[in-house]
Amino acid sequence: MSTAFGQSTVLGYPRIGANRELKKAVEAYWAGTIDEAALASTAAGLRAEVWQQLRNARLDAIPSNTFSYYDHVLDTAVAVGAIPARFRRLELPALDTYFAMARGVDAEPALELTKWFATNYHYLVPEIDPETIFTPNPAKPIAEYAEARALGIETRPVLVGPATFLLLAKGPDPFARLDDLLDTYAQILTALAEAGVAWVQLDEPAYVADRTPAEIDALRHAYTRLGEVEHRPRIFVATYFGELGDALPALLDTPIEALGLDLVAGPGNLERLAASGPLAGRTIVAGLVDGHNIWRTDLRRAVATGATVTALADHVAVSSSCSLLHVPVDLSVETRLDPELFARLAFARQKVDEVVLLGKALRDGTAHLPAPLPATPAAWRDDAVRANLAALTAADRERGEYAQRAAAQQARLKLPALPTTTIGSFPQTAELRAARAGLRAGTLDAAGYEQRMRAEVEHVIRLQEQLGLDVLVHGEPERNDMVQYFGERLAGFAATDLGWVQSYGSRCVRPPIIFGDVARPAPMTVAWSSYAQSLTAKPVKGMLTGPVTILAWSFVRADQPLAATADQVALALRDECRDLEAAGIRVIQVDEPALRETLPLRRADQQAYLEWAVGAFRLATGGVADDTQVHTHLCYSEFGEVITAIDALDADVTSIEASRSKMEILGDLAAIGYGRGVGPGVWDIHSPRVPAHREVVEALRRAVAAVPARRLWVNPDCGLKTRGYAEVEASLRRLVAAAAEVRGS
Ligand code: GLN
Ligand code: ZN
Repeated sequence: MSTAFGQSTVLGYPRIGANRELKKAVEAYWAGTIDEAALASTAAGLRAEVWQQLRNARLDAIPSNTFSYYDHVLDTAVAVGAIPARFRRLELPALDTYFAMARGVDAEPALELTKWFATNYHYLVPEIDPETIFTPNPAKPIAEYAEARALGIETRPVLVGPATFLLLAKGPDPFARLDDLLDTYAQILTALAEAGVAWVQLDEPAYVADRTPAEIDALRHAYTRLGEVEHRPRIFVATYFGELGDALPALLDTPIEALGLDLVAGPGNLERLAASGPLAGRTIVAGLVDGHNIWRTDLRRAVATGATVTALADHVAVSSSCSLLHVPVDLSVETRLDPELFARLAFARQKVDEVVLLGKALRDGTAHLPAPLPATPAAWRDDAVRANLAALTAADRERGEYAQRAAAQQARLKLPALPTTTIGSFPQTAELRAARAGLRAGTLDAAGYEQRMRAEVEHVIRLQEQLGLDVLVHGEPERNDMVQYFGERLAGFAATDLGWVQSYGSRCVRPPIIFGDVARPAPMTVAWSSYAQSLTAKPVKGMLTGPVTILAWSFVRADQPLAATADQVALALRDECRDLEAAGIRVIQVDEPALRETLPLRRADQQAYLEWAVGAFRLATGGVADDTQVHTHLCYSEFGEVITAIDALDADVTSIEASRSKMEILGDLAAIGYGRGVGPGVWDIHSPRVPAHREVVEALRRAVAAVPARRLWVNPDCGLKTRGYAEVEASLRRLVAAAAEVRGS
């Protein structure tokens, strides 16, 4: 059995397939059109393809168990027996229990889904309570290891490490269960060793965030304990997404054989490593190729960094900085990209080649490295945009005083107390999606598409009038996605054909690429909004996606600070706001659902982020007159940590997801003295359930107790695009009726 780690590796690889084969197979299984055997055979084919590709690329340390039907954290939960009683009770076959945890069934809601650190991947939150009995269930990693071996490929199974697993879990103090869980991991390690596994990878990314000294001690304790397991594979602890800080020497205190460091997102890891003393007998796995963005690596710079590590450790291997799960599969299929851009990109397959090249260069020197990329093309620069940004002053991010704005807006809008509105989108029906597919396929021409969308806008306006809503929306039927839509209309952005990335389960997204200076060649939303406004006397809200969210859901250029790119996007949106205003739109909503999710993991970095994020939003919205009402919308998160930033956005009205947290957010806003309009969601649109009249009234009464009625808005939690018309009509009717009842009392 070989004990050397190898020269080059990746921490994980996309599992969805080059054409989203996994999505299609899993959804077919859910729909009952294929059986478990057919699903399993597609999955085995995808795994074999990945392993063979990695081997053919001459990667010499290949991971396994990076495949998943839904989520790798859920897989680890299954591997340690952490299946909550509420799912065990259903007595379903194993695969259906797994999907029940992922997606819920009628009787049981799914595990909570949440962001995987600062990425757009979402994992299922393990539920751990004192009754959870951890039991080793290494069937999946062992089977996949054996499967690869049958192909002649030796692999390294990957699991989420025990400390990170518990830190990500929910329940009354999951971390208190560490010792129990370590017993189970110890048994899994032995089972792996018995199956012939030489190396195992345990991922501990939770330690690149701020951790207490007790949590760091627990990490040291965990790997000391696992290191002492008599019969085990060699242990590789992988960390990624940032700097390990004090966890780095703690891990080196333990008997682990290899430690992986992200040297892209965590350059400080290098210094810390140098300060940690001798590394005799250890392998350092240097994450030199960015696994979280799509740019080609500056190979010479990476070799120089790698050489610094080589001077410190006995053995150094090169890897991706994190799993390649976060980038699309293969650049070579993108035939429609500008060649200058194409030449600068690397997706998962290309990143594997880079890792292999770097591994070789570290050993044999840089003579065989390809030529460095020439300087950025001049055409990607927009001097007009740069000049406009340079000419900005602080005043461009300031609006008039709020009291004055509020009075001017009320004089113009004449809204009742507790005005009712929605968040923007109305149901994206099968018909709308078919029209968009027809447009792409060429079976529907642009005029036909436009006509179809206008008919939908009219339908949505009529419906809202009939329901009696106060501030209307056009329904966003023309938008495929709230970021992609703008990416397709802004200069400096490119779209891919097949650049899919898993967001959660079978859901994949195709993030745009921001490669150059951002400019707005023409208005992007004005025709739709003004058409909608022409149909009604009620105010129609213009609807834009904010700069922070556009960045968060795109691949962003790495050659300038995020703040500079955010300001360029903001400037384009500022022009759009002004054009909307000039077209007679009196209310403009700029959505920032991603404000919280890109918050840096370490507190020390958060203030700087919030400053540029807030600054960009204010630049986007600060150019309108006092009597134009600016709304923003936030969702998907707990907002406690960014509450002062929400206030600093200075929007006239903030709508915010609140129905699941029972309006807690209102207390948080009151505590910091937030004094502008607020619309806490009173209907949880993530469920098809129509709320009872009494429920909405109660939610509103709770809100009225916390916020004066003249500042309170009545709206759902989020956009309605995933819902059907039947429940949307019924629920909005309840919402309007509840507002009327509470207004009257
Ligand atoms: N305006 C968007 C919509 O309603 C907002 C979506 C979101 O918050 N994610 O769809
Ligand atoms: Zn939302």
